[in-house]
Amino acid sequence: MQSIISKLPNVQTSIFTVMSRLARKHEAINLSQGFPNFDCDERLKSLVFDYMKKGYNQYAPMAGIFELRNQLAMINESLYGRSFDPEEEITITAGATQAIYTAISAFVQAGDEVILIEPAYDSYKPSIEVNGGIVIPYGLTLPSFKVDWDAFAQLITDKTRMIVINTPHNPTASVFDEEDMKALERITKGTNIVVLCDEVYAFLVYDGQKHQSVLNFPDLYARSLATYSFGKTFHNTGWKMGYCMGPAHLMREFRKVHEFNVFSVNTPVQYAISDYIKDRETLFGLSAFFQQKRDLFGQLMEGSKFRLLPAHGTYFQLADYSAISEENDVDFAKRMTKEFGVAAIPISVFYSNLKDEKLLRFCFAKTDELLQQAAAKLIQI
Ligand code: PMP
Ligand code: GLN
Repeated sequence: MQSIISKLPNVQTSIFTVMSRLARKHEAINLSQGFPNFDCDERLKSLVFDYMKKGYNQYAPMAGIFELRNQLAMINESLYGRSFDPEEEITITAGATQAIYTAISAFVQAGDEVILIEPAYDSYKPSIEVNGGIVIPYGLTLPSFKVDWDAFAQLITDKTRMIVINTPHNPTASVFDEEDMKALERITKGTNIVVLCDEVYAFLVYDGQKHQSVLNFPDLYARSLATYSFGKTFHNTGWKMGYCMGPAHLMREFRKVHEFNVFSVNTPVQYAISDYIKDRETLFGLSAFFQQKRDLFGQLMEGSKFRLLPAHGTYFQLADYSAISEENDVDFAKRMTKEFGVAAIPISVFYSNLKDEKLLRFCFAKTDELLQQAAAKLIQI
């Protein structure tokens, strides 16, 4: 038997795979893994096909086609009132996961410390550890999931190479405000820390709040990389397309890794998206679309024993089930799938110490009919 020294000895099948598989097996309604059950826009699909038919089927430039990077630069300029150089500051990636992995690989060396805010999206930790980095967790606390930046700053040492943040935040659905960004800017000032800000839900912020991007804070942006997902934005998570933004000196290093872990990404899809987003409503209309779904799910769940927490951004809704069961969240999520026919994600798996706060995450990126069917089952519990 070949002997293997695993670089990731503790990694197991992701909770998203586990819960989606269980949902299929028990024919349960799947509100676990974060993907829409409705299709992406016909117009976008036609654009992809048009570009394929026109012969745009060979390698794209390493950093992505200029037209798409230029559209993204213009969109962000209109949002943040500053210019971004499409040649130097934007790279198109195979989804945010690749952008995150590439950013971490480009900067984190063996023995470097990386501070993660937990509960943390599941790809950050293995991406750090496979590069020899050491995860330093900072735990958010209920009910507000606010960061105490003085306590956070205590975690910074001379080994801290990177801080990973995520706003709007998966899985808590909380968002950073301007004060959070300023605090982060303050505590990283004068250090060599790179900030990786995962902004895949940048266009999914509710109740008139404004998404706080690192792009909007010049001193913070000077040390940051921001990651985005077209899959989350355009209802096509299976296309695995996204992008990364950052100042030229960081993007140069990012591209050194990008060039050799993917080189370049899907050409016709890049052309299609660059045309599609010329209609800015494809992006700016998303908040209203998903806020309606959040509110519908909230109304449908009225009278249930689940207690819904505030959801300020993302397409996820946290719910406390402590009035229903004392089981740990993983067991309860599995039993709920099997016995009550609705799958959700248990939150403990996003903490290094598997802290169980009796919370489940429901994805509301679903048709109104499916949300109605799911809620009808959930209120019986
Ligand atoms: N970051 C967060 C916070 C996510 O929820 C996801 C899942 N979409 C990703 C990154 C990965 O995005 P992608 O599917 O584009 O790789
Ligand atoms: N981002 C998705 C979620 O949070 C899952 C992506 C995946 O399955 N890796 O549910």
